[in-house]
Amino acid sequence: MESQFDGNRKYNSLRQLAITDLCGLFNLQNQGCCRAIARLHPNGAAKDFAELFSVGLEVAPQLYYALAMLNRKPNLGNPDFLREAIRLSKEKMAANEGGPFGAVIVKDGEIVGRGWNRVTSANDPTAHAEIMAIRAACTALETFSLVGCEIYASCEPCPMCLSAIYWARLDALFFAASHEDAADAGFDDALLYEEVSKPWPTRTLESKQLLQSEAQEVLNHWKNKTDKTAY
Ligand SMILES: [Zn+2]
Repeated sequence: MESQFDGNRKYNSLRQLAITDLCGLFNLQNQGCCRAIARLHPNGAAKDFAELFSVGLEVAPQLYYALAMLNRKPNLGNPDFLREAIRLSKEKMAANEGGPFGAVIVKDGEIVGRGWNRVTSANDPTAHAEIMAIRAACTALETFSLVGCEIYASCEPCPMCLSAIYWARLDALFFAASHEDAADAGFDDALLYEEVSKPWPTRTLESKQLLQSEAQEVLNHWKNKTDKTAY
C-alpha cells in the first residue's frame, strides 16, 4: 500500500504536470500566474478560464483534465475496501463462480456494488469482476453514471474493464495485484492492450468496414434528436 509520503509526492508531481499543461495550453510563460489563477478558481471553472484567456471551449477536454489534476486532493484509498474485493475474489473462486477476481464500488464511504468474476458460471465472457460491480452499483443507485464513486479491484483491470471504468465515469481506481501477477496465473491481457492501440486494419481480429453512410444516417438522427438522454 502506498504511504502518505508517496501519495503526496505523486500528487505534487501530477499537479506540476497539470500546471505545465495549462501554461502550454494558454501560451503562458509565467507558471506563477497560472498557479495564482488556479487558486482563484478552486472549483475548476473551465468557462471562466476560457473567457479569461479568450480561448474557445473546444479546448475544454484538456482544460477539464488539467483543472481536475490541479484541484485533485491526494486520495490514497481505503485498504478495507480493497480487502473486501480480495475477500470476494477468494470466496467466489472457491465457490467455482469463475476466475479469482473481485471488485467493489464505493460512494461516500459505503459499498454500493460488489462484483466477482462469473465468466464460467454465467457463460458470459464479459462477466469480469469490475463489470459486475459497475452493473450492481448502477442498479442500486438507479443511474448510468458513477461520478462520485471509486472502484476497488483485487487485480489491475483488463482493457475491457478499464474502458468500462472510464465509461462509468468513476472518480478513482484502486487495485491490488498487478497485470504481471495475473499473467503469471494464466490471465495475460498484454495482447489486448497492444491490440486496442492499433489502427483496425492492422489488428489480429479480421475487420472490415461496410455500409458507413447508412450507419452515419442514424448517427445524424441522434445528433439532431431533441429528446435524447446524453451520456
Ligand atoms: Zn476485465
